[in-house]
Order: sequence, then structure tokens, then C-alpha cells
Amino acid sequence: MKKTGVLTVMSGFSGAGKGTIVKALLEQYEYFLSISYTTRAPREGEVDGRDYFFVSREEFEKMIRNNEMIEWAEYAGNYYGTPKKAVEDWLAEGKDVILEIEVQGGMQVKALFPNAVLLFVVPPSADELLHRLRTRGTENETQIGLRFEQTVRETRYINDYDFVVLNDKLDKAVATVHGIIESQRTRPIYQKDMIRELSLDLSRLIQESNL
Ligand code: 5GP
Repeated sequence: MKKTGVLTVMSGFSGAGKGTIVKALLEQYEYFLSISYTTRAPREGEVDGRDYFFVSREEFEKMIRNNEMIEWAEYAGNYYGTPKKAVEDWLAEGKDVILEIEVQGGMQVKALFPNAVLLFVVPPSADELLHRLRTRGTENETQIGLRFEQTVRETRYINDYDFVVLNDKLDKAVATVHGIIESQRTRPIYQKDMIRELSLDLSRLIQESNL
């Protein structure tokens, strides 16, 4: 039976640990993570085609003009965007797809894919967030400041998300996210074929049994 994949958007403050949650989800379950395009420079250890597709601003703008992005946004001075083809193909094949993107992109996905489920990951406290960003060591203090300002702006969008996931204990957060995605499958939109078959069977039985 043909099934459509569930599209999940994971957003959250920089340093809230959404990347760690996604990594654990991919290790434990069969999810497909979209690899975004970005104009940001690779961080130490990041690999082109695995963490992101790293491109120039010109290349990125060309992709926008060619309508190759599902969504895109400018974040802390760089472009980030989700490529259309891979995501649409996966969904059509019934695969469950995760997008790890910021809020402006999340809102664009919500408008385009009304059945997408939107999750917002929050840290236990602001102090913990600062601590995580500093110990991650991938941004300097100026960049951390920029990301904190962005964080304050992002809080405005939380009410547009479907679920808020507290990332206090990683295992618990991963189980919560997986449970939310699984529960989407029980929505009528994903059960269309089953409901149609059931109705047909009922009609057939009524006729055959002279009910
Ligand atoms: P970072 O520079 O830390 O890798 O990512 C910065 C922010 O951009 C994060 O919130 C990340 O989730 C978001 N991001 C990554 N890829 C995309 C994308 O394709 N589209 C959008 N809108 N945001 C993205």
C-alpha cells in the first residue's frame, strides 16, 4: 500500500541540542535527514555533503532563482536552505523526513506542507544554553552574542509550532520526539488507504449479507 512520509521540522535555539537529538534519532530509527545548502564556512570537522552542502552566495542565489529550494532564510549573516528534490522524492517514497532548520524556514514549510509537524527544542535554562554554546567551542563570543539575539527573536515563533520539546535529558527528548512523529501516523490523512478499504469492505458486506 502506498504511504506518504511524515515531514518533521525541528527548530530550536542554537545550542539547545537539536542536532544531538537528530543524530540520535537517525542512529536509532529510520529517518531521513535533509542536507541543507549554506553559505556559511565549514566548521572544523564538518564535511561537505554530509553536514551541509557549502556553496557561495552566487550559487545559493541561483538555486533560489531556479526554484530549487523548499524554503530558505538568512541567519546570522548567512543563507541556509532546504533542497526541494530530495525531500519531495523521499516523502513520495513514504520515507519520514526531518528538516533541522530555523524558524523563518519552519514557517515557510508550514505554509507549503500543512501536514508537517513542527517541533521546537528548548534548553532547561538560558544559563545552560550559554554554557553549552561556550563549551561547544565552535563560535567566538561575538558570534555567541549574535546567536543569543537571534534566540530572543525566535521565541516569538514558538506559538506557531505544534510541540515544544525540553532537552533536559537527551534520551527522554529523543523518545519524546520519536513518539510525536510516530503519533502523526494515526492522523486520518496518513490512513486514507486503510479507511477507503474498510469502507469498501463494509459496503461489500452489506450487499453480500443482505444487511
Ligand atoms: P548552524 O550555523 O549552527 O549550522 O545553523 C544555524 C541555524 O540555521 C540553525 O538554527 C539551523 O537549524 C538552521 N538551518 C540549517 N539548515 C537550514 C536550512 O536549510 N534552512 C533554514 N531555514 N535554516 C537552516
